[in-house]
Amino acid sequence: MTKPKGFIRRTKQRELILQALKGTKCHPTADWVYEKVREQLPSISLGTVYRNLRSLVEAGEVMELTFGSSFSRFDGNPENHYHFVCEECGQVSDLDLPLQEQLEKQLEACSSCKVYTHRLEFYGVCEECLSNG
Ligand code: ZN
Ligand code: MN
Repeated sequence: MTKPKGFIRRTKQRELILQALKGTKCHPTADWVYEKVREQLPSISLGTVYRNLRSLVEAGEVMELTFGSSFSRFDGNPENHYHFVCEECGQVSDLDLPLQEQLEKQLEACSSCKVYTHRLEFYGVCEECLSNG
């Protein structure tokens, strides 16, 4: 069960931000999104990008990844999925692990909780950084 999606007003700015996020796999920061959207909408401000990102996260249309770091990264895929974080270069990549539902069912089987969601991140060194020595 996922959180119900909130109503969200469609604006040109919001559409461009959503497109920027859906069009990349890099899990960008707000600054990256700002630079990207500015290519098409030079007048947009960083504050507007932040506000719209916040609304999109609250509406469940995009996901915010905090990783305990000082700034958030954003993911155009709002469905629960796992990530691998490279501690050398900071790259965040998607993992396709079919564990999601099993993990929640197992927890429910051994406790009396009802699980709605969970987060799991893996930290290490990515392939590229490993081959660069
Ligand atoms: Zn790396
Ligand atoms: Mn992702």
